[in-house]
Amino acid sequence: MSERKLATIRVIDKIESIDGADKIVCATVGGWKLVTAIDNGFKEGDLVVYLEIDSWVPTELAPFLSKGKEPREFNGVKGERLRTIKLRGQISQGLLLPLSVLGEAHEVFTIGEGCDGADVTEQLNIQKWEKPMNAQLAGICRGNFPSFIRKTDQERIQNLAKDLAKWVAAGLTFEETEKLEGSSMTVYHKDGDFGVCSRNLDLKETEGNSFWATANKLMLREVLEHEGRNLAIQGELIGPGIQDNIYKLDHFEFRVFDIFDIDTQTYLDSAHRKEFCFEHVLTEAPFLGIVKIADIPTMAALLTRAEGESALAKTEREGVVYKCIEDPSISFKAISNKYLLGEK
Ligand code: AMP
Ligand code: MN
Repeated sequence: MSERKLATIRVIDKIESIDGADKIVCATVGGWKLVTAIDNGFKEGDLVVYLEIDSWVPTELAPFLSKGKEPREFNGVKGERLRTIKLRGQISQGLLLPLSVLGEAHEVFTIGEGCDGADVTEQLNIQKWEKPMNAQLAGICRGNFPSFIRKTDQERIQNLAKDLAKWVAAGLTFEETEKLEGSSMTVYHKDGDFGVCSRNLDLKETEGNSFWATANKLMLREVLEHEGRNLAIQGELIGPGIQDNIYKLDHFEFRVFDIFDIDTQTYLDSAHRKEFCFEHVLTEAPFLGIVKIADIPTMAALLTRAEGESALAKTEREGVVYKCIEDPSISFKAISNKYLLGEK
């Protein structure tokens, strides 16, 4: 069910002591750093289960996450959400569990080719925690998200440590845009049919639905019919009642980040996307610049750069999305740790 690998088999790359702490250590797994108790006995090179932040972890797997309190509930599963925390000044993102949580099945994983990165999200019943949508956003389903359009998503840079090294070596350039904290919205026109979608659903046009109201206000049907091509416009809907509305907007805004050509199944490149938005008076996600990835070649450099003030309000931005100029199929997100630590 889950589309994202939230729970994977990983090798512990490093274990380091933390200044002034004698019961906890800092473990590195790929691009992630997390704090774990010395008593857990994890060592460098160990094969473990790593759970990423925003995993909804069932109580049976890690009862200690509830700290003796009654566990919370999400989609009918009792458990807790993994958040970004700081312990003794060390940022900690995620959770390590011994392979034994996999039960019998774990014996098939021995260190070696193929097991690093193996997805055990479903097996462990891990869900991606998401803020519940309010009624105006949720809307009424007309159908599943169209299979002829790609759902919006970005992989976290922390899971791409090896790729990063390759992109640096290849001398690739990336477009940087601000990652907005809202709700994913897609409108499309295909063979005469116009549709408005949330992240996962094609929505019926209903009174008061924020996605449809915004699409109508911006006359996106007319925009796409005028183009006369099979296209999807994808962006972030931000405004009152969406996530925490960190931009404190009193109106809705649709900020475009992708135009998808349905017939060729490709995204328009940055220049063509800009041209399209300019011509149809659509606003894009804030453009930050073009950068050679070799100038920010490390995980630490990228994560530091992700931090900063939003272009839309006096608040820490959620992060930065990177899209490769030479190869539009490469993209990723770098989320600001400052933002994650400050999140309500
Ligand atoms: P997440 O919000 O962590 O699930 O990250 C992926 C989502 O970021 C995508 O599905 C988009 O809805 C959203 N997003 C926000 N700003 C941007 C941007 N500038 N470029 C691409 N995606 C973005
Ligand atoms: Mn989001």
